[in-house]
Amino acid sequence: VQVLENAGAVHVSPVSGGGVAVRTASSMWESDMAVMAAGSWSPHISIAGADTVPVRPIRGQLLQLCGDRGVLQRVLWGASGYLVPWPDGTVLVGATVEDVGFDEGTTQDARRSLMEMAVALVPKLKDAGIADMRAGLRPRTPDSMPLVGRSKAVPGLIYATGHYRNGVLLTPLTAHIVRSMIFDAGYPTVPALDPLRHGNL
Ligand SMILES: Cc1cc2nc3c(=O)[nH]c(=O)nc-3n(C[C@H](O)[C@H](O)[C@H](O)COP(=O)(O)OP(=O)(O)OC[C@H]3O[C@@H](n4cnc5c(N)ncnc54)[C@H](O)[C@@H]3O)c2cc1C
Repeated sequence: VQVLENAGAVHVSPVSGGGVAVRTASSMWESDMAVMAAGSWSPHISIAGADTVPVRPIRGQLLQLCGDRGVLQRVLWGASGYLVPWPDGTVLVGATVEDVGFDEGTTQDARRSLMEMAVALVPKLKDAGIADMRAGLRPRTPDSMPLVGRSKAVPGLIYATGHYRNGVLLTPLTAHIVRSMIFDAGYPTVPALDPLRHGNL
């Protein structure tokens, strides 16, 4: 796989006679099919004849705590978060859900509220140190369901985006559907995931 980073603006359009063209400022590819899997950045990809992809970034902040090894043996869910024991003995504390645009920074407020939530679930974590704190962006659609399916505007283009809080969990199923659509033109649309439910895509 060739990975091209920082390519600038990306434009996707149909090729006359069939196929999909993907253009950046410095390069152009043509292929029978293409998959659009740009996560939270999906609206930044311009797709000829299509509406802007209705996905927005929802920030999630996480803490990684180091304390007594073995203080937690299993995943714990609370009303406002979860704790996951990692094999290295640290405990992952997640996660905030924040509509703050493309800001991947971490905040003191989140550090405090995640720590409070963790201690409420496992009081022994009170003295745990913070080994790491990080943030990521979850791609959310208006109905919080993924967009997985064929484009109407650009035949040959398949969307696989908008997985919001479940993109890891749904990777095998998404891969199965996308692969099936690539190799079988008759593979049916999954109505709940159909990109066309959100406009002309
Ligand atoms: C704190 C947190 C906790 C989470 N916990 C879970 C969990 O427990 N279980 C679960 O299933 N999911 C979880 N998620 C959600 C999961 O991470 C996302 O649903 C998933 O990452 C979406 O995958 P994706 O590949 O569609 O998008 P992304 O992971 O966002 O990947 C998109 C990629 O496309 C690249 N890209 C975008 N535009 C361009 C461009 N023009 N050119 C080149 N590259 C480009 C980006 O750089 C990025 O690498 C969590 C998310 C967060 C933030």
